Amino acid sequence: MNLWNEGDPIADAAAPDGPIETRWERRKFAAKLVNPANRRKLTVIVIGTGLAGGSAAATLAEAGYRVRSYCYQDSPRRAHSIAAQGGINAAKNYRNDGDSIHRLFYDTVKGGDFRARESNVYRLAQVSVNIIDQCVAQGVPFAREYGGLLDNRSFGGTQVSRTFYARGQTGQQLLLGAYQAMERQIGLGNIEMFARHEMLELIIVDGRARGVVVRDLVTGEISTDFADAVVLASGGYGNVFFLSTNAKGCNVTASWRAHRKGALFANPCYTQIHPTCIPESGTHQSKLTLMSESLRNDGRVWVPLARGDSRKPGDIPEAERDYYLERIYPSFGNLVPRDIASRAAKNVCDEGRGVGPGGLGVYLDFADAIARLGRHAVEEKYGNLFEMYQRITGEDPYRVPMRIYPAVHYTMGGLWVDYDLQSTIPGLFVVGEANFSDHGANRLGASALMQGLADGYFVLPNTISNYLASGPFEKLSPDHADVVAARAGVEDRLAKLLAVDGDRTVDSFHRELGHIMWEYCGMERTEEGLTKAVGLIRGLRDEFWARVKVPGTGEQLNQNLEKAGRVADFFELAELMCIDALHRAESAGGHFRAESQTPDGEALRHDDEFSYVAAWSYGDVPTLHKEQLDFEYVHPSTRSYK
Ligand SMILES: Cc1cc2nc3c(=O)[nH]c(=O)nc-3n(C[C@H](O)[C@H](O)[C@H](O)COP(=O)(O)OP(=O)(O)OC[C@H]3O[C@@H](n4cnc5c(N)ncnc54)[C@H](O)[C@@H]3O)c2cc1C
Repeated sequence: MNLWNEGDPIADAAAPDGPIETRWERRKFAAKLVNPANRRKLTVIVIGTGLAGGSAAATLAEAGYRVRSYCYQDSPRRAHSIAAQGGINAAKNYRNDGDSIHRLFYDTVKGGDFRARESNVYRLAQVSVNIIDQCVAQGVPFAREYGGLLDNRSFGGTQVSRTFYARGQTGQQLLLGAYQAMERQIGLGNIEMFARHEMLELIIVDGRARGVVVRDLVTGEISTDFADAVVLASGGYGNVFFLSTNAKGCNVTASWRAHRKGALFANPCYTQIHPTCIPESGTHQSKLTLMSESLRNDGRVWVPLARGDSRKPGDIPEAERDYYLERIYPSFGNLVPRDIASRAAKNVCDEGRGVGPGGLGVYLDFADAIARLGRHAVEEKYGNLFEMYQRITGEDPYRVPMRIYPAVHYTMGGLWVDYDLQSTIPGLFVVGEANFSDHGANRLGASALMQGLADGYFVLPNTISNYLASGPFEKLSPDHADVVAARAGVEDRLAKLLAVDGDRTVDSFHRELGHIMWEYCGMERTEEGLTKAVGLIRGLRDEFWARVKVPGTGEQLNQNLEKAGRVADFFELAELMCIDALHRAESAGGHFRAESQTPDGEALRHDDEFSYVAAWSYGDVPTLHKEQLDFEYVHPSTRSYK
């Protein structure tokens, strides 16, 4: 049976051509404006209050639009962005170490293994410099050097120091900045905030995104809300793997509901596996913990030279250690990009040289840094991360090396958007991790915060006006046939989940789905494994709808019901991820097909066949639409960090 069909190609009609340096300026100039007096007649719904949604809502409200903002947490400032640790990139070149907008652009296109759009990435690099100024003006306490200037450190895939940070709490500090900006607008009455509300459906009228169906998570009440445009800033879907570094609530529902209604989903198989996470400690675990990539600035990664060496790390002499990243990749050393570091860790563990329980770990050792800089300096930079590690593992990383292993961390795939960040549904815009836009097949560290804030503070507020200039649109009533149908669909689905009344918990299904995904669509993928996974997922999905047990009712706080809806969507997404991974018979960044590797085991792309964005439309058999990628400024080459 055909697993997918091929449809018409798709193009990004919003992107200007001509010199790349002026594309963004020219797009902004060409975009229609809405005059300030008319803005207050226009309403925008923003789903999500993380860095992307929070910055977008605050900026749109500041510009004069009416904003209605939703999140499922009890406060906007508990969005998952709060967990971001290591930093945010910007091409400020404060270190005078050769950085520039062009270099950040180049590093990002190359880091993404030549599977991202040049126009988008160039704009991201341009806007990066404004983000830092914006955040400093808000009072975000970035780390500073002794003289008071903003400090920088390095992240993977770069040879300059362009990462701004606030210890290991950068996301928290940035989110507090965006949240304060939002709160100001909430206070002024320009944003209406609905916390603990989950969007369960998109409302489309006359082909335009016009609203959402939401469930009040406390009372269970279902309601509809209307606007002139809808912005999804609902984050990534790494939790399809069950175990990931993401917050437990992260899910794909908002994006998936839009996908089912016609929004194309791009590159769903591009998942980032982060090399430095605390290894799994047992089957009881429901979440994994990241140890920020910033630690690779000073920590050295190694394993014993000999297989099965079970001596304590301190008992293994230097000559019997393999600092394998420094050995294999001398130019970038411990700061190779994440996809490369993760695969290298897997390889040494597969060879039987892994450390810790089950041999699924490698050391991240700070002994040299402590000897060189002193304990105090290391504590200053990474204190909270060391403390977190010690609390979780019971080991003191100032004395013994950390043990780390790769884990699912970020999803480069997401809803397809054009240069304006508009999806294939008119009026539906997608920002932050929820869209697929800028990272190609692999995201470089500290680039997600940059992209989320670029989208929210600078890009969307400029591009959405071009769409809103045609509004306000027809006033909608809850009795409109399309609204009634969308609402009924949500109610039926919730009733169906409750009615199964089976004998297996939602979590048990989610965990099993995650195992399938990790095994067959994780760090290494094969045609055989992916084909098998599609069958396993379908079988498990059928079992889910026959046996899931959702206790309680829909008219109350019911976290099992919330989870059940999200897991039901993960099943459908998981199948599409495997199909996407299956069709892409090349290796690129986070997508490593065992059949496509160089003689020394590196990812082998096939640019002649796969230099495109894979944008999928929904259907029992999904349809592939290819967006061809052209590289005028950074020519695809074999990506080498050696
Ligand atoms: C542990 C960790 C550390 C990280 N560290 C870094 C770092 O140092 N630097 C870096 O650049 N990146 C980092 N990242 C990645 C980065 O944090 C995320 O990619 C980014 O914060 C995502 O922001 P967002 O605004 O797109 O989504 P999120 O912050 O995930 O926000 C999603 C929002 O959508 C809402 N939402 C979702 N679905 C619905 C729905 N159906 N209805 C209503 N509301 C909904 C949620 O309530 C939430 O408000 C890290 C990620 C992790 C997991």
